[in-house]
Amino acid sequence: MDYFVSIDGYFRAGRKGGYGFIIRDNVGKPIVASAVASTEAVSFLYHLVEGITRAVELAVEFSLRDIRLFCNAKHVVRLVNRAVQTVSGCRLHCNLKNHFDVICKICVKKRVKEEYGLVFPLLKRIGQLQDEFHTQLQTVKVSKERNKAADYLAKNAAPGTEVLHPCNFPDELKEILCTDYVSGVELFRMTSVVVVILVLKKMVQCFHLNSYGNLFSCFRVVFFLYAVMIL
Ligand SMILES: [Zn+2]
Repeated sequence: MDYFVSIDGYFRAGRKGGYGFIIRDNVGKPIVASAVASTEAVSFLYHLVEGITRAVELAVEFSLRDIRLFCNAKHVVRLVNRAVQTVSGCRLHCNLKNHFDVICKICVKKRVKEEYGLVFPLLKRIGQLQDEFHTQLQTVKVSKERNKAADYLAKNAAPGTEVLHPCNFPDELKEILCTDYVSGVELFRMTSVVVVILVLKKMVQCFHLNSYGNLFSCFRVVFFLYAVMIL
């Protein structure tokens, strides 16, 4: 089963930094959440990567082997995906010595400036945990609107709290969860749109080749997916 992890960071210079995340199953049922406020506010990038690292660790602790990570910061999505892609070696920097420590240091340095010393060990930790999962860890960009639960958790993180079980969720979070989730059904619908486009393309080819048997099959697939999408 796929599990969806929504993560957000929080940073106000000189005041507060932290992260929040929630892990849900593919129908949106919450498994566990976390909200952590750091004693020191470092940077948004740092706290968000810290949250992603902790989320990956917690997924391993809960034996969730197929996870997809979601956050609304494009540069962090690119950074984490790039780091994970280099776990088995970096094609771009394969000839350079001393650039590798689980993940490619050069690829990380290119994307992280001042926080490199703090962020690299976190990304390395994610890289070390990659083997615990059935599929390659992937971070997906979602809109801020679709990340409200993690945003709420990050903003309301207090020192001392870490793991929150669904029975202890605050009412406000429960309300957000009614509307904010990336469910399996939703993903299926998104995927269906792509499939419909591909099948329509195939139909055009069949039409040109006068292959009416295949054309009829394509019609049936499109009709089925269309029915699922509007339900
Ligand atoms: Zn590299």
